[in-house]
Formats: sequence, C-alpha cells, structure tokens
Amino acid sequence: MQQVGYNLERVRQSIGDACRSAGRPPENITLVAVTKTFSAEVIEQAIALGLNIIGENRVQEALDKYSRIGTRVEWHLIGHLQSNKAKKAVEIFSLIHSVDSVDLAREVGRRAGQIGKNQEVLLEVNTSGEPQKYGFDPKEVLTALKEIKDIKGIKVLGLMTVGPLSDDADKVRSSFKMLKKIFDEIKLQAISNIEMKHLSMGMSGDYRVAIEEGSTMIRVGSAIFGNRN
Ligand SMILES: *Cc1c(COP(=O)(O)O)cnc(C)c1O
Repeated sequence: MQQVGYNLERVRQSIGDACRSAGRPPENITLVAVTKTFSAEVIEQAIALGLNIIGENRVQEALDKYSRIGTRVEWHLIGHLQSNKAKKAVEIFSLIHSVDSVDLAREVGRRAGQIGKNQEVLLEVNTSGEPQKYGFDPKEVLTALKEIKDIKGIKVLGLMTVGPLSDDADKVRSSFKMLKKIFDEIKLQAISNIEMKHLSMGMSGDYRVAIEEGSTMIRVGSAIFGNRN
C-alpha cells in the first residue's frame, strides 16, 4: 500500500511535469489505473488513494473483481473484446477503449440496446503497424466511422492506440502524433453522433510523450502497481 501510494505520487508528479512542458492543464488528463492481473484488494488500495477509474483488459477477470468492488469506481475495458463477450462487457464497462471493427461495434450496440444502454466507446487504431496489435488501420478509421455513426446503442467518444513496443522515442512519438492528427481530422468533419472528446494514449513507459502529443486519457498499470508476473 505504501509502495503503491509512493508510486502514484511519482506518476502524478510526472503527469504534472509533462503537462507543464506541453503547456497543458493537468486537469485535462484522465488517469485510468490499469489493474489487470492484480487482485480486488489492490483495487481497494487504489480507491483509498483516490483513484476512481479502473482499466481491465479481460471481461471475465473484470467481472470477478466487479462482483467485489461494484460501482464505487468506473470500469474501462482496454483490451481486445471478442464479440461473444460483448453482452457481459456492456453490463459493467462505462467506456470500452478497444472497438476495433465495424462488426464489433454492431454487436456492442445490439447488446447495449438490449439493456437500454447507449455504450460509450473509443475506436482502437493500430498506429504502429505491428501485425500482432489490434485496431483499425489508420487509413480505414474515417470510412469505418461513417458506418458506425448510424449504429444504435453505441456512442463513439474518441480514439485509442497502444504505442509501439520500442526504445526508439521517435517511433513512439510519431505513433501518437499520427493518432492526434486523425483525431483532429475527424473533429473537423463534425460527423453526426461522433464526438472526439477522449484521446486514449500512453502507458507506463510512454505516457509523458503521449501527454506532450495531446493525450487526454492515459492508461497506467505497472508504474503504479508494480510489475506483473
Ligand atoms: C496493460 C495495458 C496498459 C498498462 O500497461 P503498463 O505498461 O502496465 O502501464 C495500458 N493499455 C493497455 C491496452 C494494456 O493492455
């Protein structure tokens, strides 16, 4: 607990530093505390430290923790969602960061509609070109949005990306720059039912760069909770 508190303090300071260097107000950055692989007890600690948005990458794992923690926090899905888990996902997640196909958007919309919900989502974009990563091809995002805008039961609120796994800071930065550019282009198009409010980019290793490049939502796990085994 003490260690987590100390880590969190460092992350908050470093968010502040990145904001100052980018000339942005720190209130513009939403911190999603990524607790995948960590227990519900760890989420209790996070709550005690003032964290109120929890990011999980697997639906079943999140459900198990949700049954202990409930709605004291907001739950975000940050990992790939399989269509057959959409029904469960819409029951607990307030924001799904990882919609990566039009078909998935339809299924999420259909399942959300069944429970009278308008599910807020982000579209995941594969900005690194790494084949093992999920997400729309950057060139496809706009076309996809023009189909997705008419789907009932979902509301697109922005974009998400996972930066390249690389020590090359320029590569990481250009990935974030690309997403920001797409975000701004979509905003300019003012597509009905599509809002560009959240730009979800930046993890423990690269959130400072992401903030400098315009991120509004960072997903931080190991820098707060320690290494996952
Ligand atoms: C695990 C994960 C994170 C957090 O990663 P850390 O390096 O532990 O901060 C963020 N986003 C996604 C999509 C993840 O799967």
